[in-house]
Amino acid sequence: MKEYKHFINGQYVTSQSGKTFENRCPVDNSLLGIIHEAGEAEVDAAVKAAKAALKGPWSQLTQAQRTTLLNRVADRINERFDEFLQAECLDTGKPHSIASHIDIPRGAANFKAFSETLANHPTESFRLDTPDGKGAANVGHRTPKGVIAVISPWNLPLLLMTWKVGPAMACGNTVVVKPSEETPATTTLLGDVMNECGVPPGVFNVVHGFGANSAGEFLTTHPLVDAITFTGETSTGEAIMKAASVGLRNISMECGGKNPAIVFADCDLDKAIEGTMRSAFVNCGQVCLGTERVYVERPIYDKFVKRLKKGVEQLKLGRPEDEAANFGPLVSLEHREKVFSYYKLAVTEGATVEIGGGIPDMGRELNDGAWIEPTIWTGLADDSRVVREEIFGPCCHIRPFDSEEEVVELANDTNYGLAATIWSENSARGIRVAEQMETGLIWINSWFLRDLRTAFGGAKQSGIGREGGVHGLEFYTELKNICIKL
Ligand code: NAD
Repeated sequence: MKEYKHFINGQYVTSQSGKTFENRCPVDNSLLGIIHEAGEAEVDAAVKAAKAALKGPWSQLTQAQRTTLLNRVADRINERFDEFLQAECLDTGKPHSIASHIDIPRGAANFKAFSETLANHPTESFRLDTPDGKGAANVGHRTPKGVIAVISPWNLPLLLMTWKVGPAMACGNTVVVKPSEETPATTTLLGDVMNECGVPPGVFNVVHGFGANSAGEFLTTHPLVDAITFTGETSTGEAIMKAASVGLRNISMECGGKNPAIVFADCDLDKAIEGTMRSAFVNCGQVCLGTERVYVERPIYDKFVKRLKKGVEQLKLGRPEDEAANFGPLVSLEHREKVFSYYKLAVTEGATVEIGGGIPDMGRELNDGAWIEPTIWTGLADDSRVVREEIFGPCCHIRPFDSEEEVVELANDTNYGLAATIWSENSARGIRVAEQMETGLIWINSWFLRDLRTAFGGAKQSGIGREGGVHGLEFYTELKNICIKL
């Protein structure tokens, strides 16, 4: 049985308290291993190691040397691809066919993309006139922010964690990561990769545990943490913001969404169906950018519902290693309980269940897993909870619309503002509607097409700040202005 230990100052360690909890596989609820739960002592040790490492050999590296080191980390993840793949799929239950194309390659690429982007970013400089006529020069100078606490979720564990650790390290910071209690494996494995690549001890640290009154809270309230980057639920973000307010620590928040897809009658229907199938059902619907509200222009509404249903019928549920499978279980039985409660609520709220709505019979070997049926509803009121709240499961509600003005209003009628998808062959309309979306990310005729140099983040209650490309610089560095009197 596996044991997931903390990774502190370059070494795997257990908790002083001896406290552990179970890691179970959502495919069949089998026991994968035990996870050591960090108490205040382990979190303190990890943060202090990260603080000390800021003054060690890590700080002596040039930007170019750091880039080389981080490229090596990316290469090593790819060399150990199968181990990462196996670990990620056991923790999450997701199909190999998906994790091998998204989670692991992107998890590695995050170390390359940022170091190269940041290395080529200029700093600002202004000449100022002064009364003596000699002037002054202002030069912007960036230094690492310090110790960054990284709090990450379970839906894309390696990818979303390295999305933060990559730029944090590229900017010269040190990190303490608290991965989700559901998915400890790949973050733990990354410690070994850091050692293999020669990353100095204390630069990358991992503590395991839960949120409130556990490792997450101990880390975000630790006074030596200089900034906190978080991905997860909006309500957790609120708790972390409160913690960060003590000592005025900076935060970066990537939170929940209730993302709309807008399908105009002039779309390429094949592409719109293919894209909506992915955006609603890939990763069992557990993607923050995923679509849970679909608005379809009335002339093609019936056809769209019929074709999306057909797409769902063709999804193949199965074990991660089943090459034909493209649909796995939810991440845990606890999360299934939440998602299933919305399935029941949809019926109470008057939905027509077009397809799904239940728990599938997966046979004796898999029936203890967190399986759930992919589901489509129609007929719900715009103010129903199922249409307004983030479910984070493989489900969507489809509703017809009659005009551009109406659909813009419907799409924006939410507290969230993460992503929107627009399907139309009329580019002018696509752009016009995109500009009116109150979201941080908009795709026209695609979904999840990501260029890592672009800004990523949400509006409204979907987040604070932008990461990606050079945008993370504001968060991961301290910009100092040096004014030189000439
Ligand atoms: P979650 O908020 O329950 O947990 C995320 C992390 O926060 C976990 O590591 C958890 O242990 C920790 N945590 C919980 N309470 C804490 C506290 N009080 N103090 C410190 N840490 C605490 O989220 P989840 O269920 O793991 O992930 C699903 C959510 O993440 C969804 O809402 C989804 O939309 C969101 N998400 C957003 C993005 C994005 O980029 N915007 C990406 C992926 C997921």
